[in-house]
Amino acid sequence: MSRTFLSRPPKHVCSDITALAAVQRGQVGAFQLIHERHYPAVHAYATECLADVEAVGGLSTRVFRRVLATRLKGGVVIGVRHPGCLRRELLDGVRSGAVAHAAYDVAALAPGFRDWVAKGAAWPMEDGSQLARAFERLPRSAQILLWHGVVEQEDPRLIARITGRREAAVVASTQQAMELLRGIRLGLHAERMGRPECREALAGLGAALDCAAVSGIAAHGRDCQWCREAGEDLADLDGRLGSHLPAWQLGWWPGPRYLRVKAVSRALVDVPSYVCEFPELSAAWVPNRPRGRGLLSRRKPGDTGGYA
Ligand SMILES: [Zn+2]
Repeated sequence: MSRTFLSRPPKHVCSDITALAAVQRGQVGAFQLIHERHYPAVHAYATECLADVEAVGGLSTRVFRRVLATRLKGGVVIGVRHPGCLRRELLDGVRSGAVAHAAYDVAALAPGFRDWVAKGAAWPMEDGSQLARAFERLPRSAQILLWHGVVEQEDPRLIARITGRREAAVVASTQQAMELLRGIRLGLHAERMGRPECREALAGLGAALDCAAVSGIAAHGRDCQWCREAGEDLADLDGRLGSHLPAWQLGWWPGPRYLRVKAVSRALVDVPSYVCEFPELSAAWVPNRPRGRGLLSRRKPGDTGGYA
């Protein structure tokens, strides 16, 4: 089967899942899409783990290189812990790589990450766990939308490409995912309530929870601490999702610093040079390579090769 970088791209938006399937078929252009979409995040997260610039670059490269090598062998890149979400898998790889780095060079760690490692690299055990339970009950598509839209605060254009959705539908779909999460969270609160009047106050609201309903919980909560806390939780679910869920999912979470670094990180346009190490890819595109230059150098910045 002919496998080339310039093979016909799909006409529809190429989601991460579709791109990973194309990577397995040897389409290096699909790997470039993955690289462009996620490199700023991976690099930013690595920057918050390691202090040395070269070490950050090396760790970021190893994480993507592992994705490429695994897919070319037909292996699974996105596991059960982060179903459907390549970004979390990549950040997971950065964190575990940085922890491994700490075993032989603690001085190279970023200060906050070094403190976390020194305390045992422990996952949070309290507030995030309840939120994580609700999050993990969401459909996979809703989890991915909330992760990229609320936790990572990314541009709907990027979210549309990652998820394979229409850009115009991203914001509304993310809001629907949040409503779904709020309904599940409400149900979990109701399960924990011992008093019938509390369960009635909470469970009767159902999944179509809106601001007025949250106010209703708060009104009942004037005489009930449990329901008051439940109302506060539901009213600030967006904020709690961004502040508590990432640490539960990834262990180490540098919070707003990560978002700031990611915002100024540049996506790499060119495919990294290590793709030459994989004959499954090079066998396809080397014959067309102009002497002294990589085939991929034909591409101009911003050219998606037909992929969205
Ligand atoms: Zn109550």
